[in-house]
Amino acid sequence: MNATIIEFPPTVTIPPHLVGEVQSKLAYVDERIAAAHIGAAGDNIIIELKEPLSTAEQATIEEKVQRVVVSMAQGAIRPKVQVLEDYLDRRVPFNGDPMPELARRGEISQEAQGIYVLGPLLTRLVDWFEQRFLDLAASFSAQPYRFPTLIPARYLEKVGYFRAFPHSLSFATHLREDLDHIDSFAEGAACDQHGNLNAPFERFAPIQTLLSPAVCYHLYFTLADQTLPPQGVTATAVGNCFRYESLNLSSLERLWNFTMREVIFVGSKEFVLENREIARQRMQRVFEEIGFAYRVESANDPFFIGEFRKQAAFQSAFQLKYEIRARLPFKDSTLAVGSYNYHQDFFGRHLSIHLPDGSPAHTGCVAFGLERIVFAFLAQFGFDLAQWPRSMQEILQ
Ligand code: ATP
Ligand code: ZN
Ligand code: MG
Repeated sequence: MNATIIEFPPTVTIPPHLVGEVQSKLAYVDERIAAAHIGAAGDNIIIELKEPLSTAEQATIEEKVQRVVVSMAQGAIRPKVQVLEDYLDRRVPFNGDPMPELARRGEISQEAQGIYVLGPLLTRLVDWFEQRFLDLAASFSAQPYRFPTLIPARYLEKVGYFRAFPHSLSFATHLREDLDHIDSFAEGAACDQHGNLNAPFERFAPIQTLLSPAVCYHLYFTLADQTLPPQGVTATAVGNCFRYESLNLSSLERLWNFTMREVIFVGSKEFVLENREIARQRMQRVFEEIGFAYRVESANDPFFIGEFRKQAAFQSAFQLKYEIRARLPFKDSTLAVGSYNYHQDFFGRHLSIHLPDGSPAHTGCVAFGLERIVFAFLAQFGFDLAQWPRSMQEILQ
């Protein structure tokens, strides 16, 4: 039978805390999937297909979905969620979805899925939050850096990124240095109705470079094979980051191309953990001043299917990641607008960054998603400036 919706129970029941995580991974199972939904109880999967498929083809997709489910959910133990701050109940003046109003005002212009131009109001809001993050960085005397948007494949390979997050990689290449290829491309290059460029693969150089998925890696590679000064290294940078999130790309919440501001600590374990904690406390005051509704809780990175269970459990056990989850009143949910991360001596060991005593350095970073924090702010405070925190009302003057 040809159908466009298939519905079936998972081989193993998906525990509630993993429903979102598994559902987001189903986007990568098959190109013919248009949408995937897992019931909140974790016992029902609904897959919407882009086109009607034969029973045999549907079975193939179902089998791949089950592989994801088993790999991520079988034997999974719910990690204890540790809540460090809980201000989710703060009263905020707005409960609408900012997207329609942003579109009406010409504040967003979508170039493609997950790629947006931001207008003056959004840009001023980004700058306002940026200033708070720069103040945070200055309070640690963090040294400013500018990192490239591109990152060598070798770098990502060296820190295990290909195994951990293959699904979200974005590759960069260029035409081969060959007059015939360049000539043919210049004459014939055109996009089809889907926006696909018609150039054959052999025209392009082998991939040595990707679009950078994070900011702090660049610093760690800068410090590779070095011994750190006794006071450690504290740095800050803002950069374009790229994560291909497939069907999960939506509104300003989940972009392919977004911007991250980081404050980065490299030094001893105590140095990194203490500073991460101080940064959290300083940000707590900033959020209090504006009356932001959010919570800080333990989390894990969105590892790819095969790596998920092991890595996520590891991160939870060692309290490596805390997320600042802002309330989105219009959908009664939360969104990670930043994270406080500790990588232990992972980068120190893999990149030979040493402390003065010869042991591997520890690293950690505080990372903020600029588009997301502005989106969450508008979702809580809306567009009537009179309702905004007083300190922010002047940004339009
Ligand atoms: P999520 O849990 O939402 O997938 P993450 O855990 O992958 O995010 P981090 O790696 O901690 O995010 O990145 C730091 C911050 O960068 C996030 O807290 C978020 O604000 C922002 N960010 C991450 N991915 C995206 C994205 N696809 N679009 C917009 N902002 C993002
Ligand atoms: Zn980082
Ligand atoms: Mg996360």
